[in-house]
Amino acid sequence: MIANEIPVIADSLWSATANPAPDCPPLVTETDADVVVIGGGYTGLSAALRLAEAGRSVALLEAESPGWGASGRNGGQVNPGLKEDPEAIEARFGAEMGARMVRASGEAGQAVFDLIDRLGIRCDPVRAGWIRAAHNGRALEALRETARQWQARGAPLRMLDREEIAAMIGTGVYCGGLIDPRGGNLHPLNYALGLAMAAQAAGARIHGQSRVRAVTREGGGYRVSTVRGIVRARRVLVCTNGYTGDLIPGLAQSVVPVRSVQVATAPLGDNVLRSVLPGRQAPSDTRRLLLYYRLDAQGRFIMGGRGAYDEAGTRRQFQALRRATETMFPQLGPVTWAHAWGGFVAMTLDHYPHLNRVGDGILAGLGYNGRGVATATVMGRVMADWALGRPEEALDFPVTPLRPIPMHGLRRLGVRAALLKNQLLDGLGL
Ligand SMILES: Cc1cc2nc3c(=O)[nH]c(=O)nc-3n(C[C@H](O)[C@H](O)[C@H](O)COP(=O)(O)OP(=O)(O)OC[C@H]3O[C@@H](n4cnc5c(N)ncnc54)[C@H](O)[C@@H]3O)c2cc1C
Repeated sequence: MIANEIPVIADSLWSATANPAPDCPPLVTETDADVVVIGGGYTGLSAALRLAEAGRSVALLEAESPGWGASGRNGGQVNPGLKEDPEAIEARFGAEMGARMVRASGEAGQAVFDLIDRLGIRCDPVRAGWIRAAHNGRALEALRETARQWQARGAPLRMLDREEIAAMIGTGVYCGGLIDPRGGNLHPLNYALGLAMAAQAAGARIHGQSRVRAVTREGGGYRVSTVRGIVRARRVLVCTNGYTGDLIPGLAQSVVPVRSVQVATAPLGDNVLRSVLPGRQAPSDTRRLLLYYRLDAQGRFIMGGRGAYDEAGTRRQFQALRRATETMFPQLGPVTWAHAWGGFVAMTLDHYPHLNRVGDGILAGLGYNGRGVATATVMGRVMADWALGRPEEALDFPVTPLRPIPMHGLRRLGVRAALLKNQLLDGLGL
């Protein structure tokens, strides 16, 4: 079980199958560092790793334990690219910055797998590609356009017809799709734990059970306080994503935390595994309330989708995911459902991740819109580059001012309304 989480979403397959966690004692002293990193998910761990490898003294403060947030609970899908297609990114951010964002996000999957190789992280990496499955003809046309734009930039995306995608996934519900061979999947919590151990080995100090209560100006830098300790540093990286509290005024209001949930079976038999995802790709589909699914290394089937804020609604979503699985994959036969869990993803209104300078020496990176395994890893690297002195205009993501969403308090209602509308449209196949 993941500690300190509400029971309805705590039964994660990943924590049940995790490697031993690194020792991360709470901060109980007053100390100094070049950089303080707040939050121990992929963003913070990747930043801490890069800083420590560059010889900087770095203290990472995590409220619970490394990988406790979305990084230890997600679908483990390694998804290259951003939500928008390359041309839209270049049009919005300009030829130079846009091209840099396209390149960095396109190479993000490779960056993850390179780190895993270099650091020897035991997290069951599978580099079989990411399948995007079209639920109707219009969605298929949009995927064709995505493939065209990436192909024009040298990326090896390939369209799949109805028969090919049915054979690859093991269900006939899709009219086609595309495969992005740059993607894949992994054990998400073990990836986070591996990053934490590698950062420690490089010299980073990682403190669990160390929720940051205040960040205050002191001299030319900052004083970062937990209940029992203080770190003083010139630079602070805020990496709290969907679990952002009120530490930095306006930051929590710049994203909308939305719950995503998953259910997993017990390991499936060899007979069934021959026809369900035989190539071990991880698909996600094009429905508005998208389904994402995969097998793990032991042959458990994992189905994910949108959750709800309340417990009863979340339980209903678990049931809906189990039903969807059994309808799409009747060959599974009677299934033993063994795990159900979830966590918060941080959505942004513009669908882009945000890199916000929120003070002279403070940078926040967040808002991966449910695609953070690859992007958050890269964002952590970008934030570390900034702390190492790279000029803002030379970073791989644009630094933008913090923009709290107007009437943020009402967003939950908005999310519920959007959920109902999207459910209706998906149900009609539109
Ligand atoms: C159910 C689910 C499925 C998903 N599936 C996928 C997928 O298949 N592929 C994909 O690419 N992405 C997926 N995502 C998204 C992905 O997990 C996230 O984008 C990514 O993990 C974000 O990493 P992060 O480090 O920014 O944030 P997190 O991993 O959420 O870490 C933030 C950390 O900050 C800590 N924190 C908060 N406040 C404080 C404080 N005051 N002091 C100290 N620490 C603090 C929290 O405890 C937390 O550990 C999924 C997410 C969920 C929830």
